[in-house]
Amino acid sequence: MAIKPLIDASTIAQRVAALGADITRDYAGKDIVVVPVLKGSYVFAADLVRQIDLSVEVDFLGVRSYGDGQESSGVVQITTDLSHPIQGKHVILVEDIVDTGLTVAYLRENLVTRQPASLKIASLLHKPARTRVPVGIDYLGFTVEDVFIVGYGLDHAQKFRNLPYLAIITDDSH
Ligand code: 5GP
Repeated sequence: MAIKPLIDASTIAQRVAALGADITRDYAGKDIVVVPVLKGSYVFAADLVRQIDLSVEVDFLGVRSYGDGQESSGVVQITTDLSHPIQGKHVILVEDIVDTGLTVAYLRENLVTRQPASLKIASLLHKPARTRVPVGIDYLGFTVEDVFIVGYGLDHAQKFRNLPYLAIITDDSH
């Protein structure tokens, strides 16, 4: 198994700063709740909130997706729920990657029942080639090919989350 760099740290930082500026502009004068989906989005979310110049609350959602390994099944279990109600609040759900779209579609449906004032989606990455449920991503970092990505919070078997850049895992065993 080899790690091939895909997007370097300074390119990520520039993009995250731009997203933070967009959010700051779009929500001017409002309070927002940023909801990172654990674990994959924790690095992205930590950098993103520091680029948002607004009154920001952060609350976490932990999810487990049932599927065969790297394939999402669309059956998502919330393992850690929000610690505060979001009714009447402006919420931004923060994902690491939208792959099939099933996870975000499920979470969006779940959060909407809690009656937030608004709900938008931020995702570091999007793999459009794998879309099964189209999800509108309001704040997108990068579009990527159909490859398995690690680093900057994203894991392979729980490892590589600490890489400061995004990389592709290649199987060089044959
Ligand atoms: P979806 O429900 O959109 O198919 O899957 C979303 C979740 O699958 C992501 O939040 C992430 O946890 C996982 N995932 C999908 N593609 C990748 C990838 O390329 N690398 C990693 N590390 N996780 C991925």
